[in-house]
Amino acid sequence: MSTAYLSHQDCHRHDMGGGHPECPQRLDAIEDWLISHGMDAALDRHDAPKAELACLERAHSARYVAEMRATLEALEQQAARGEGVAPKALDPDTFANGHTWAAALRAAGAAVMATDLVMDGRAENAFCAVRPPGHHATRDQAMGFCFFNNVAVAARHALDVRGLDRVAVVDFDVHHGNGTEDILANDDRVLMVSIFQDPLYPYSGNDPLGPNMLNVPVPPYTRGPEVREMIEALWMPALERFKPQMIFVSAGFDAHREDELAQLGLVEADYEWITLRIMDVARRHAKGRIVSCLEGGYHLSALGRSVGAHLRALAGL
Ligand SMILES: [Zn+2]
Repeated sequence: MSTAYLSHQDCHRHDMGGGHPECPQRLDAIEDWLISHGMDAALDRHDAPKAELACLERAHSARYVAEMRATLEALEQQAARGEGVAPKALDPDTFANGHTWAAALRAAGAAVMATDLVMDGRAENAFCAVRPPGHHATRDQAMGFCFFNNVAVAARHALDVRGLDRVAVVDFDVHHGNGTEDILANDDRVLMVSIFQDPLYPYSGNDPLGPNMLNVPVPPYTRGPEVREMIEALWMPALERFKPQMIFVSAGFDAHREDELAQLGLVEADYEWITLRIMDVARRHAKGRIVSCLEGGYHLSALGRSVGAHLRALAGL
């Protein structure tokens, strides 16, 4: 069976303004790596569909979804009329343009479709090369470059629509996934394990919001060997006990030592190792089912190489 790869051109058109690190070129860097390493043919490509609003409302309040729709559709219509759209700030570092509504729906839609592909046995696992990312989006708030929480939307789809009893969320982005925690804390069908630099934006995660949250804050300048030790000692026993039937990954690559948004020291081999450890758990308890969604990763070359390492592992290459 194959690894599904979901993306869409709309995700490339969402643009938060010149100089913003969460830029369209991030997706180009990933594509370039795949093409130059002959990975293109190894993946089963799909165009991401737009998520239904009902899917979003499994993770976000109906009021928040309606507010986002009103704000972002207005920008979309402005752009469709040929008017210039200056990036509109939704928080100090999160901006929308005329393509953000479509991109945000595609990003969440990719995660949902990936879940269905894997659940239906049409792919062993899946990677969503999408933006905007999702793990900072809370139930009621866009923040930290995120609008809808793609992973939380997909996890709830797996539970509420596809009938699973237990899913795990694994978040190895360098920033704490505060949005995912906000949405999934105290949902005892979910175990979330994460590792993140502390202190660092969004300055949360030290006090978990629920017993189903396993947060591992690590100090700046922690390197790969220490991170691997902590994952082995803390995540693995908890995942083994929980026996997830499917694993969702918030795959951020900004803990790479070349990434300038944080100060951790991971390299490509660490991302490969983490991916293989997640796959071990998935193989034992979840029929191998993994849906991974792109979160952060801002050094373009390091991002391409790191996603490459992650995908190579997922595809068994
Ligand atoms: Zn991040």
